[in-house]
Amino acid sequence: MIPITKVEIGERERQLVAEVLQSGGLAQGKYVAEFEKMFGHMIMSKYTVATSNGTTALFLAMKTLGIGEGDEVITTPFTFAATVNSILETGATVRLVDIEEDSFLINCNELGSMSQSHIRAIVPVHMFGQPADMDLICSFAERHDLRIIEDAAQAHFATFQGRAVGTFDVGCFSFYATKNVTCGEGGMVSTNRGDEFEWLRILRNQGMRDRYDYAVPGYNFRMTELQAAIGLGQLERAEAMIVGRRLNARLLSSLLADIDEITVPFVKSNREHAWHQFTIKLDIDVLDRAHFVEILNARGIGTGIYYPRSITEYEAYSGHPRVLCDDDSIARRVARQVVSLPIGPYLEARDLEEIAIACKIAVMESRK
Ligand SMILES: *Cc1c(COP(=O)(O)O)cnc(C)c1O
Repeated sequence: MIPITKVEIGERERQLVAEVLQSGGLAQGKYVAEFEKMFGHMIMSKYTVATSNGTTALFLAMKTLGIGEGDEVITTPFTFAATVNSILETGATVRLVDIEEDSFLINCNELGSMSQSHIRAIVPVHMFGQPADMDLICSFAERHDLRIIEDAAQAHFATFQGRAVGTFDVGCFSFYATKNVTCGEGGMVSTNRGDEFEWLRILRNQGMRDRYDYAVPGYNFRMTELQAAIGLGQLERAEAMIVGRRLNARLLSSLLADIDEITVPFVKSNREHAWHQFTIKLDIDVLDRAHFVEILNARGIGTGIYYPRSITEYEAYSGHPRVLCDDDSIARRVARQVVSLPIGPYLEARDLEEIAIACKIAVMESRK
């Protein structure tokens, strides 16, 4: 079986976790500080604040920027629910902007026509590891005096014009078990602003400036030393893992290039993809997706459907008074076409050849 994801825990992670257990200090301490420092250094962000997970990172970032009731926050309907949930949790209203058909990223052409009065921030999702158009997003934000909170949960070390995602204003990352870098569960907020860095730290820890010195009512979003120890071990191998993903993506793209019924992932210019997922689109006028997936799985190839629906297709959101959406027709269409294939650094050339052969067979056998 070639799995769609495989968590790889190295000797270094084991060693660091053993050190933490030995020390007896399990709650946030020097390993978390070291993890923040190393990650910040790698993305060249001035300040980084580790959190319990990626969702709390997004929520904490928005609370720190003062986003709440009466504010509107732009994001896309083709994302994991955490993006939308974290905005709703602040009390703000979500404004969903449709994606581009070829890249799965927010369609920046749609931004100009929006009425701006209540919009406070934009949350671009670097979907599957590909950076959104940060040039257009930054100029839009500047023009309307908005903040940018990048949802970089899937895009550790991806770059736009040579600059790491998460460093354009405020960035949020996830270290969930299946992400490119993992702590089991974990998150990170990055910022270049010292005043906001202080508030991120205060709000993360019950609103305390110092022990029992409460500045405001806050939260407990702290990361544990055990999480940080795993993350530190992962960061030491991150460069090799990302190179592996990029090589695999290039090879798999070329192996699938001559199949008319499959569109391989489109990489836009001026950026380096993190390849969290390698997501193809099927010509569903010709192919039956469920059948296509079944054939791949039967041949031992793991697959994922990310995401099976646009956010607005769930009652939880379509009926929500604080979720607004004019048009998500592209997100809805794309959700019916996508299939993610294995791409992790644990794959070898012959695995990728096997995946490509299985895709060719599945195309022939899943014709409607
Ligand atoms: C994983 C993910 C999150 C949330 O991260 P958790 O660590 O699971 O809370 C947010 N946004 C996107 C796009 C994600 O893929």
